[in-house]
Amino acid sequence: MSAPAAFPVPEVAMTEDDEKWMRMAIEVARSKGSDPASSPLGAVIVLDGKVLAAERNQTQDLPDATAHAEMMAIRRACEGTGEMELRGATLYSTLQPCGMCTMASIWSKVGRVVYGAGAADVHPMYFETRHVDTLDFVRKAYRDDLVIEGGCLRDECATLYYHPDDDLPADEQANL
Ligand SMILES: [Zn+2]
Repeated sequence: MSAPAAFPVPEVAMTEDDEKWMRMAIEVARSKGSDPASSPLGAVIVLDGKVLAAERNQTQDLPDATAHAEMMAIRRACEGTGEMELRGATLYSTLQPCGMCTMASIWSKVGRVVYGAGAADVHPMYFETRHVDTLDFVRKAYRDDLVIEGGCLRDECATLYYHPDDDLPADEQANL
């Protein structure tokens, strides 16, 4: 799979630890089942080698349109630490965070966001129609201490979702 040309995200060599935590995020995503129609996303927040939260998206279960995996993980991590800020923590997500989750990452003060599959690796149904440039959010957030890196276990993460070229009936497309 090729890197997204229209949405360049720096790809940095991932460490073994990054892959370990991403594998956990994949397991969390799979706990939702293997149907790509259910948008199985997993997010794990790690600080100093300890897991603060590991959540899957729960939009339909709750129901709550804001209950994306990353949002749920940020909520649980803050509840667990009793702190509003997650400075120094890394947020792992199986899929490139949407605009809402990127903004939540900025507000939560995590130091690093690492995602697996990027927007170009999966079907467009998982993203806003006009995909928001999340790097632009970060650039304009007056934070020079937040890093977003994509492509950690990209292919494994992409298998959780519909392929970019899959021909899906409209009623399967979550964002329509
Ligand atoms: Zn999101």
